[in-house]
Amino acid sequence: MPTPLDPMRDQSAQNAPALPGTELVQAPPPQIGEDRAAQLAHDLFGVTGAATSLGSNQDLNFVIDTGAPARLLLKIANPATDPAELEAQSRAAGLIGARAGVRVPLAHTFADGTTVRPVTAPDGAVAHARMLPFLDGSTLGGSGYLAPDVVARFGELAASVDAALAGWQHPGAERDSQWDLRHAPAVLAQLLPSVADDELRRHLQQTADAAWAQVAPVAASLPQQVIHGDLTDDNVVATDGRMPDGVIDLGDLGRTWRVGELAITLTGILHHDGVTVADAMTAVAAYQRIVPLTDAELDALWPLVAVRGAVLVASAHHVLRTDPGNEYAAENLQHEQLILKAATSLPLPVATALVRQSAGTEAPPLAAPPAQPMLAPAQPRGAGPAQPRVAGPVAVVDLSPESPALDEGRWMVPGIEQLLAADALATGVRAVTTRFAQPRLSRSHPGQSAPAVVVPGIDVTVAEPLVLTAPWPGEARLVDDGLELRAAHHGLVLRVSATQRGHVADRAGGEVATGDPFAEVTGTVRITLAAAGIAVPEAVTAQTAAAWRAVVADPTAVVFGDAVAPASPPPDGRELLERRDRSLAGVQEHYFSDPPVIVRGWREYLVDADARVYLDALNNVTSIGHAHPRLVEAVASQWRRINTNSRFHYPQIVEFAERLAATLPDDLDQVFLVNSGSEAVDLALRLAQAHTARRDILAVAEAYHGWTYLSDAVSTSVADNPHALETRPEWVHTVEAPNPFRGRYRGAHASRYADDAVAEVRRLAAAGTPVGAFLAESIFGNAGGMPLPDGYLKAVYAAVREAGGVAVADEVQVGYGRLGEWFWGFEQQGVRPDIVAVAKAMGNGHPLGAVITSRRIAASYRSQGYFFSSAGGSPVSSVVGLTVLDVIRDEGLQQNAATVGAYLKQRLAEVAHRHPILGTVHGYGFYLGPEFVRDRETWEPATVETARICDRLRRLGVMIQPTGDHQNVLKFKPPMCFSRDSADEFIAALERVLDTGW
Ligand code: PMP
Repeated sequence: MPTPLDPMRDQSAQNAPALPGTELVQAPPPQIGEDRAAQLAHDLFGVTGAATSLGSNQDLNFVIDTGAPARLLLKIANPATDPAELEAQSRAAGLIGARAGVRVPLAHTFADGTTVRPVTAPDGAVAHARMLPFLDGSTLGGSGYLAPDVVARFGELAASVDAALAGWQHPGAERDSQWDLRHAPAVLAQLLPSVADDELRRHLQQTADAAWAQVAPVAASLPQQVIHGDLTDDNVVATDGRMPDGVIDLGDLGRTWRVGELAITLTGILHHDGVTVADAMTAVAAYQRIVPLTDAELDALWPLVAVRGAVLVASAHHVLRTDPGNEYAAENLQHEQLILKAATSLPLPVATALVRQSAGTEAPPLAAPPAQPMLAPAQPRGAGPAQPRVAGPVAVVDLSPESPALDEGRWMVPGIEQLLAADALATGVRAVTTRFAQPRLSRSHPGQSAPAVVVPGIDVTVAEPLVLTAPWPGEARLVDDGLELRAAHHGLVLRVSATQRGHVADRAGGEVATGDPFAEVTGTVRITLAAAGIAVPEAVTAQTAAAWRAVVADPTAVVFGDAVAPASPPPDGRELLERRDRSLAGVQEHYFSDPPVIVRGWREYLVDADARVYLDALNNVTSIGHAHPRLVEAVASQWRRINTNSRFHYPQIVEFAERLAATLPDDLDQVFLVNSGSEAVDLALRLAQAHTARRDILAVAEAYHGWTYLSDAVSTSVADNPHALETRPEWVHTVEAPNPFRGRYRGAHASRYADDAVAEVRRLAAAGTPVGAFLAESIFGNAGGMPLPDGYLKAVYAAVREAGGVAVADEVQVGYGRLGEWFWGFEQQGVRPDIVAVAKAMGNGHPLGAVITSRRIAASYRSQGYFFSSAGGSPVSSVVGLTVLDVIRDEGLQQNAATVGAYLKQRLAEVAHRHPILGTVHGYGFYLGPEFVRDRETWEPATVETARICDRLRRLGVMIQPTGDHQNVLKFKPPMCFSRDSADEFIAALERVLDTGW
């Protein structure tokens, strides 16, 4: 229950206008102690046990511990409470429990069907007692994060409860509570005198007035029924501490507007970390799926949320004024202020448009009425009306995430919007405009959760002073930052505002007719067109942009006529996903269930179609960074000359093969160029089989090596293929994953994995199936960058060679400088493989892979026929390979991986110190694996938590995914240009998730 009014101690409230029937006068709680409560439990309900008071404002609540695991709750209501209300609550709980599919405490019911028994307090007051079970789990009060599925669950709960109570009546539910939103204005009037701060008081009053102006016209058509009335975060219970599955405290039960239930539930969501108004709409959509809201309800919903926010804040002030030491109320006030802030963060029509969008009943966007275009050539003052005409050719500056003008990170250049406008003017046009409501990448920065990137207007830059003429008749007047034209025949207001780089001069003032000059503009001005009474903000978030279209219109045609062609619509993520699902094989999965549409990358950043910038902590393929200009130029230049198959003779392939071989030990000097890691591993194994004339392969369990027949046969990661273990051919053998944390041998005993592997090599030889190839990642990439135990590869390679086999290193993920200290992973183990397979990083996302081996082994392939992979090592691919190596060298990226990686690992260790769920951090450099566990003793993997942590990180702007057979390790493998600032940002986001929840 929210902070209650306590007018017994407050004269002003008692003197306030009387509100018929509300509970403004209430008795203090009955004077009953714990011993007496235990006695009552026994005498009235036959329950024997110790009573512990939970404390309460109006009622008394005692936990009765009978010694049984399930605890009971003795509730003694305030003497002012009519027992009929308590019976109504008991009945309603029964209905909810039976029909809503949620847990709800059901009161002990006596043989006569009643649940309430009278209790006389020492002062003679008669109160009423009930005995209820105590629901296990925790409530969701506080400010912790609520994930979208949890927010949706709130909506579902509210709807299920309302559906369960629909049509039910009870005399005890006919009451006028102070929290009944029908009475909100009257209640607020009583409370407002307690708000000392004039500005806040005015704000609360205005909020309520504006809200009621929207509610009153539909009030009579709002459906009424009995509702829970306080279905907030404090009154839902989650068995798992996260997803609400129980409902408690029916103390505000009553018949009122049905939509009040959802409004109240929404206020219980809005103060939680990371929940914006747009996020809260998930609850509306969920409610609507179960109980379709009427038109009137959709219109009244957000105003009721706002007015409830105002009542909550006023009520907390009221309590604090009479009881300044009330810490409970003081803490509540902080939450209530957040609720009010969120509830009033959007104009009501915009919030209502959001509500309608989530319910699928949105109105079409506001359209600009027909107009005479405004731009005319400048004329001297007093020279008479200008002849309206479009001001010559108009250039459009594209600031969208896909704009070529923002390539090469230009979106991060300070003042880029103005620079681009100046460039466009330099081409000789007289005016330049931005696109209306285009998400502007120029306004987005890494690390912003919901950046305000959509400008609900246009920025017009003129080469020389230009006169604007009135597009329709109206009244022009000066406002703070420019001029405003209020239309005479429709409700729209056109505003021309000065910016830092431009100003607006008044040319008319007062009444203007169509075509009259009314403003003269210089430099850059902002032009907006909005419904009267709407204060158009500088920019809004992409999530709310469509809702803003309910009150702002596109002024482009009003200003320029048809001189500016409409923009092509941006990609619609949902529609694109449907098309993807239709046309791509389902098994080709994508990251995230609701993936953003990625339209750009730059260095270690990814950009989506809404101009949101993400930190890419995931992308080991992109080794040198997204859209590297040097690579782009080298590739374009090569494509312009030639790209063809690798049987031709051309310099690039030679040069690349030499450069690649030079990174490896001397005798590994024969290069095969292919197109992927799978191909490379496949070829490496075929070489080994050909060379040893043996089929049997020994691989490390839980690893992934590719999808082709051979590379798949040796992949036993159940995370990548749940059937990997059953479908393995008999000639593939595995050794246990040498995991020193959760495997058979832990800590100091981890060296025994090598002993076992050596024994297995010998056993296979003795069994007549000697190993042809031993295949391992040099650092266990698929387990999250886990280093192999010291000496592991040394011992196993030696045994394999002794048995006549060859050692194959899969460096597809871990090689190529990412580890920082070592270019190749096998260097960390101090070994030299016979065959190396590599891909991913060497192409920076271009399909490029390689196998490098000795002359003797390479020659063995002859027994298999010719080797030819058409595009492997093509001129373009070879140029890619060469440029990537150049950039890694010239930009010191391996060194960057070493220093920033070490810094990040140390910061992660600090995080682990504060958060036990972060069990350890594997890896080196830019191949790190923070591992989440439920218990550091048992090392139980925190699989579900890791998925949710990744989801929340993405919402905070960090792209990362789980890896490993338990999917409980973050695969941190970013582009190798990842900066120290980005490392700090990553840590800040992770800490926020671990502090406030997932
Ligand atoms: N080996 C390892 C260790 C890998 O992680 C992968 C890909 N995840 C591959 C091989 C296969 O590479 P590709 O996807 O380029 O075929």
